[in-house]
Amino acid sequence: MLDNSKLSNPKELEEKILKFWEENQIYQKSVKKDFKIPIFSFYDGPPFLSGKPHYGHLLATTIKDIVTRFFSMKGYRVERRVGWDCHGLPVEKYVEELLGIKNKREIEKMGVEKFNQACRKAVFETKPLFEKTLQRIGRWADYKNSYMTLENSYIESVWWVFKKLWDLDLVYKDFRVTPYCPSCGTPLSNFEVNQGYRDVADESIYVKFQISNSLPTGDLPKGGKSQINSKSYFLVWTTTPWTLPANVALAVGPKIDYVKVKIGANEEYILAEARLSVLKEPYKIIERYKGVDLIDFKYEQLYQVQSSVPTLPTGQAGGRQAKFKVQGSILNADFVSTEDGTGIVHIAPAFGEDDFNLIKTQEPGLNIKDVITVDEEGKMKKGVIGEGLFVKEADKKIIEDLKNRHLLYRTEEISHSYPFCWRCDTPLIYYPIKSWYVEVTALRQKLVKNNKKINWAPAYLKEGRFGKWLAGAKDWAISRTRFWGAPLPIWECEKCGNVDAFGSFKEIRKFSIKPVPENMDFHRPQIDEIKLKCGKCSGEMSRVSYVFDCWFESGAMPYAQWHYPFERKDVVEKTFPADFIAEGLDQTRGWFYTLHVLAAALTLKNIGLGKDKPAFKNVVVNGLILDEYGRKLSKKLMNYPEPDEIFEKYGADALRLFLISSTAVGEDYRFSDKSVKEIYQKVIAKLINSLKFYDLYADKKVQNLKFKVQSLNILDKWILARLNEANQNISKAMVNYQLTEASRFLIDLVDDLSNWYIRRSRKRFQKPENEKDLEQASAILKYILIEFAKLLAPFTPFISEAIYNELKIGTSVHLEEWPKINKKLIDKKLLIAMKELRDTATLALAKRAGVKIKVRQPLAELKIKKAELRNKIDLLNILKDEINVKEIIFDSKIGGEIELNTKITPELEVEGTKRELIRLVQDLRQEAGYKPKDRIHLWIEAVPRLQKIMEADLNGFKKEINAENIFFAKTDKFDAEISTKINSEQLWVGIKK
Ligand SMILES: [Zn+2]
Ligand SMILES: [Zn+2]
Repeated sequence: MLDNSKLSNPKELEEKILKFWEENQIYQKSVKKDFKIPIFSFYDGPPFLSGKPHYGHLLATTIKDIVTRFFSMKGYRVERRVGWDCHGLPVEKYVEELLGIKNKREIEKMGVEKFNQACRKAVFETKPLFEKTLQRIGRWADYKNSYMTLENSYIESVWWVFKKLWDLDLVYKDFRVTPYCPSCGTPLSNFEVNQGYRDVADESIYVKFQISNSLPTGDLPKGGKSQINSKSYFLVWTTTPWTLPANVALAVGPKIDYVKVKIGANEEYILAEARLSVLKEPYKIIERYKGVDLIDFKYEQLYQVQSSVPTLPTGQAGGRQAKFKVQGSILNADFVSTEDGTGIVHIAPAFGEDDFNLIKTQEPGLNIKDVITVDEEGKMKKGVIGEGLFVKEADKKIIEDLKNRHLLYRTEEISHSYPFCWRCDTPLIYYPIKSWYVEVTALRQKLVKNNKKINWAPAYLKEGRFGKWLAGAKDWAISRTRFWGAPLPIWECEKCGNVDAFGSFKEIRKFSIKPVPENMDFHRPQIDEIKLKCGKCSGEMSRVSYVFDCWFESGAMPYAQWHYPFERKDVVEKTFPADFIAEGLDQTRGWFYTLHVLAAALTLKNIGLGKDKPAFKNVVVNGLILDEYGRKLSKKLMNYPEPDEIFEKYGADALRLFLISSTAVGEDYRFSDKSVKEIYQKVIAKLINSLKFYDLYADKKVQNLKFKVQSLNILDKWILARLNEANQNISKAMVNYQLTEASRFLIDLVDDLSNWYIRRSRKRFQKPENEKDLEQASAILKYILIEFAKLLAPFTPFISEAIYNELKIGTSVHLEEWPKINKKLIDKKLLIAMKELRDTATLALAKRAGVKIKVRQPLAELKIKKAELRNKIDLLNILKDEINVKEIIFDSKIGGEIELNTKITPELEVEGTKRELIRLVQDLRQEAGYKPKDRIHLWIEAVPRLQKIMEADLNGFKKEINAENIFFAKTDKFDAEISTKINSEQLWVGIKK
């Protein structure tokens, strides 16, 4: 039994319940041991173990907990295993920061083994923080038996998945220009890139490339200076000046119209006609071309392009520069548009995907490796202008240089969307790199088809964000040139070049040249030391040094969490696909996507997991949590309270209910202390007060509820109708994964219980007409509270348990079944009539407030225009009580909906005063902590009018306040006193038991 005083302190209450669950193993009991009952399969999306859990985690975890608790109560076996994403860049960056390391070179210097040990240590240090917070918010799961992606068993299953893809011919290696983080030193997959786009301001430039078509191809000018006197240029626009030293060509659109214009005395520019607006001076068109004709032109390079020798600006290297001066060619390319720039695109094949592909097809002789002017850390290489500077820094230097050489037409600040590393916030660059790819494009149709089998909440994501993403799916770069991750199980033969993938530890052992220790750690660098015997030439095979993209690992969790297919084959196959998963919106391009891709590949044929399956059947996607002004929550801004603070002040229930009800799932949240407080007051505090009310007034002898509906009080009938109606709505919403709707039905129900049912039933408890009525009211209230606790259990598990424990029914509300809906009790007519009644009451009370007459002051009559409530005596009595009028008259001729007679006769005034007096004593009784049955002695000192009013009905008064004596005098022996005014008349009152 809970201590009543603790009910009002959410922290104490909830901590006590956490202990109760723990000590009594309630979660374990709720996962029914009977394997014959239907399984509800849930996959936990593993959060990255780095840093501290934030509100995003709490939101997703709340959704997961609500849904799984609901289906557990609905009679399913719902095992909940939490998972932890231990690998990948998030952890590596976290550890780099911890150790004060800046780049890969420093990691290699300290040793991969030492670095990976530090990563492992960090993961195990972070895990308890996450566990503690998740448990505190009431997330039920098997924490002891969690899965971790760093375990050997997990890694082995990842290998198995990869090997399946390998055997399906879905894996290939390519040298490509890919998005690349120079700080992390690794390529990123396109969906990782998509997580980091930001609007930034950059300096873009219009560059002049001097035309040299008067020279025969390949004939280089001799001497130090260009021999071309003509000042004719191609005008080219770029937002990445640092790529200019790597320029090898200019591209034009074959069908685009170009013009040569003359500006001033002798400068001539070629640009697209549609882009003439970029010119800032008067011009005259002197020639016209189609793009296809421009390929006869050549131009002079801005910088040398052979990286084997220093690339220096032309004209700056003394006698040497002429020797290396080359001409660039003009190429036709379909991707050139006239939407921005000049319609002429500068081509640097090392730093652009389109550029790379164009050169590969049109200038196959060019070795792209020769024009990589930037090193792997994103710095300009030795001998290149801006040497040693990070690319973005080199921009300034190059602009300066072009300006000095009169090759800069003008600069222009632009704001555009630019990708940053989602993990370390470094601006990404496109960089040529060798990487292993999964051929997602080959699966695209299956991806789209399998998505049709998924129920998305919110529904618009299915064909929207996710569907569109699938339709444009690209091949997935899955290898990372990093350290802390599942190693790629690919070995290469140094002798014959044979490359093979291995899908199990057993296979690796089989081919290993030296014996492999049984309990070795599969991570780098240990795994790198294993050399295999080549199946083709008996030479030695070494592992490629890559690790997996950590998203590949999390996408493999349905199989890897159970070490499939090496162990628990039946468990995995029985629980695949998941009935339900939930994460944030960003995962449509992260975890949801990689789960989907790997599932599509593994169910191309039925290997035990079925054919053409998605990895999950239902998915709930939550939006971002922002501060109350719509800004991102940030440590720097300090614009949010720590979760612990919220738990302390309002408890986890209030936070859960806020997260689930305040914003439609999928939309972005506005979070503030204030908004959680509101929910606490609106729902949790009201439930506590309802329970306290029961405690104080109900007849506890009533054990079981037995009633005939016909004989019930109208309010009882109504609350039973509301309970079942709400259950019907909530159940329907929940099986459709509409959590926000479900929670809002619940909040309305709590409001009906507290602000209507209990308030209007007060008299039946405090001054029952007879024993029987109190019994009935007590039985119904108890029943209602228990049923409420069950409906609330998935949403607000703590207060539900508190109510249930307080009423001493069974062990735990969470072991109960979800309440059955009794349709017979849903009296639709009554529900409508009561609504009509409450609407009328609201109008009448507003009128009272308008003329400033307190509700305690009785009034003579209320006229109602509509006739719905006519002859409904029970309801009319409730209405009379609620608005405190003597009579209700139906009159279709009145002007508005209602008409309230606000005239206060002397008789009505006396009655009003009486009510004020009674109220005052009731408050005092409460202040003194008296029970309703406690008889009191009352002392009162008041003006004659008040005394007379009391004396006129002394016995009536005594009965109302349960007093033995009333003394018209002052005393100093009282338990509670008050000196106050009624209207403007002074009085003093004291009471004693
Ligand atoms: Zn990075
Ligand atoms: Zn070989």
